[in-house]
Amino acid sequence: MKSLIPVASPLLPPLEDFIPYLQEIWRTKRLTNGGPFHEQLEKELADYLGVKYLSLFANGTLALVTALQALRISGEVITTPYSFVATAHSLLWNGVKPVFVDIDPHTYNLDPDRLEEAITPATTAIMPVHCYGIPCNVDRIQQIADRYGLKVIYDAAHAFGVRHKGQSLLTHGDMSILSFHATKVFNTFEGGAIVCPDAKTKQRIDYLKNFGFADEVTVVAPGINGKMSEINAAFGLLQLKHIDAALHRRKRVDGIYREAVSAVPGLELAWTVTEGHNYSYFPILVGPGFAVSRDALYERFREQNILVRRYFYPLITEFPMYRGLESARKTNLPFADDISHRILCLPIFDSLTDDDIDRVIQIITTAASETF
Ligand SMILES: *Cc1c(COP(=O)(O)O)cnc(C)c1O
Repeated sequence: MKSLIPVASPLLPPLEDFIPYLQEIWRTKRLTNGGPFHEQLEKELADYLGVKYLSLFANGTLALVTALQALRISGEVITTPYSFVATAHSLLWNGVKPVFVDIDPHTYNLDPDRLEEAITPATTAIMPVHCYGIPCNVDRIQQIADRYGLKVIYDAAHAFGVRHKGQSLLTHGDMSILSFHATKVFNTFEGGAIVCPDAKTKQRIDYLKNFGFADEVTVVAPGINGKMSEINAAFGLLQLKHIDAALHRRKRVDGIYREAVSAVPGLELAWTVTEGHNYSYFPILVGPGFAVSRDALYERFREQNILVRRYFYPLITEFPMYRGLESARKTNLPFADDISHRILCLPIFDSLTDDDIDRVIQIITTAASETF
């Protein structure tokens, strides 16, 4: 059996470089609750990303749940069916009803042209996703939100470091949520963050992620335990030293794939790379003009121990807790439905070797040359 190639593999700096951080934790005995590494990572990440305020979390899902709490979101929230299931789950955990709107087939993100018709008197917010790190139409979304007095919470789990029109993509909306899960571009094993525009909002988020404690004897809200530990924060600091090199290697893989895939009839590149991208995913579209179906190609990869993924198939709206909703009907989401049946994400990560890349491309070209 050929060696396994996952779709994503974590950025892991040399182990010996992590030892001094561990020694420091053992020396100070500060394990969590906003210790020195936590504080330093919040500062360094805000600097690196080019944002004002950032609160670290134990994972991205708790960050999403807490962001909705911090903005006191209720009623209905408009969101996308084309995402990881945690996006919609965070709404259910807040007792909020998700209202699904179709995607723009060119960006895979919420289609602003379909937003207004989904707004009702119960709508309080929009939760778009920068899918694959491709920027949403942030200007149009903000215009609509302003007109109807809605909050905008971006699930930016794919958008670490993405720049848009000369600034961080994460500065848009009322809040942006990041995930530092092992499979993401930047990881702290598990982790996440909320990016927000002002100190007062950060203060509220920080209370909420620590049970609502404002001081030793004062609890101001029914908060949760969403804190990132010192070990995770220390790993994030080490990771930051390697992130630029890792992004550079991802960009190279993207370039090689892009050239190979564009030469194959029936395959489409999912989008054109723009300046400031983070190369977090490499999605392709398998069309009717290709020799085999999307799922047959997926199986060919699996047979060769290459774990490509159908992100995002099935759609969130196909899971049992969502499919009964009026907005979850397939006829309401034709583009999301179509794309979910054609999409395939190829392996992309910093440690992918040239041999790995060759194996991936070989499977595509072999499948493409099959005739019946
Ligand atoms: C990874 C991911 C999440 C969840 O983040 P965790 O850190 O795993 O909890 C949420 N939304 C999207 C779009 C994701 O890809």
